[in-house]
Amino acid sequence: MGSLEMEKKIVGWAARDASGVLSPYTYSLRETGPEDVHLKVMCCGVCHTDIHQIKNDLGMSKYPMVPGHEVVGEVIEVGSGVTKFRAGDVIGVGCIVGCCGNCRPCNADIEQYCNKKIWSYNDVYTDGNPTQGGFATAMVVHQKFVVKIPDGMAPEQAAPLLCAGVTVYSPLNHFGLKKSGLRGAILGLGGVGHMGVKIAKAMGHHITVISSSNKKRDEALDHLGADEYVVSSDADKMQEIADSLDYIIDTIPVFHPLEPYLSLLKVDGKLILMGVINTPLQFVSPMVMLGRKSITGSFIGSMKETEEMLEFCKDKDLSSTIEVVKMDYINTAMERLEKNDVRYRFVVDVAGSKLDE
Ligand SMILES: [Zn+2]
Ligand SMILES: [Zn+2]
Repeated sequence: MGSLEMEKKIVGWAARDASGVLSPYTYSLRETGPEDVHLKVMCCGVCHTDIHQIKNDLGMSKYPMVPGHEVVGEVIEVGSGVTKFRAGDVIGVGCIVGCCGNCRPCNADIEQYCNKKIWSYNDVYTDGNPTQGGFATAMVVHQKFVVKIPDGMAPEQAAPLLCAGVTVYSPLNHFGLKKSGLRGAILGLGGVGHMGVKIAKAMGHHITVISSSNKKRDEALDHLGADEYVVSSDADKMQEIADSLDYIIDTIPVFHPLEPYLSLLKVDGKLILMGVINTPLQFVSPMVMLGRKSITGSFIGSMKETEEMLEFCKDKDLSSTIEVVKMDYINTAMERLEKNDVRYRFVVDVAGSKLDE
């Protein structure tokens, strides 16, 4: 056995079945190909999607599964065709690690909409091996799916931007909403919603957080810097803000009526859906006709947008609200995340967890 082969044996924390319980798991990484970047993982954010994947909520999980798609690491080695990165660079890897490279979305640099995209974990790579995520000591990733973390941005701060951050940045950017003076609302204050408030505020928007209860009022107004907080059952308040919004970012992941929110939009306003809801949603057509309103959706963001978003967050000095934990706390962290018992994002200090010792 050559030494190179030895070097690619790594340790990750994997789920073995739909219980979703994570435990140490040893596996091998592929050789660093000409287009590949071999990285040592520094830290990795914990996304709500990770829970659905490890617990097989979508019925497509394969085990053992090492989750994690908000990965920040340090480059150890690059392939001969890699010019953008070199050993020592701090880089990020997000939700996808592959795409076909020649379909319409790929040619338009929106590879997140490629039908052949390859997920960072719980997927099969082009070599036939399963992809494994960032809850591990190292990864090998094609250079196209690697971004440079801006100098001076803390790795644990950067991690949640790689999924939650770009997920809200992308539609604001794409729909021409990245300009100051707009009025927007965020529905649901989870990992994506909290980032939505911060990014939209950094773009100079007036932001209303709309929630089902008063529980997060202080958090939204005092900590995140939202301008207004409205409880959705408060009919008077909802009436007060009718016809006032340019857009609503709807992160609620369960069935909810759309009409109360559509009525808040002004002419040409957009309701942007981001929660995965498997129940059909309902509205009557005049709700969108009278006001030329749109209901649309958006999904993560491209590598190009990820780069732009990181620079934007660096310029605006934007920070994520995180709780840093070690890997041996991950099962508790997942339980707490499931109960929404976290201030937005857990980030696992992977390097500090010394997984291979
Ligand atoms: Zn995610
Ligand atoms: Zn493609």
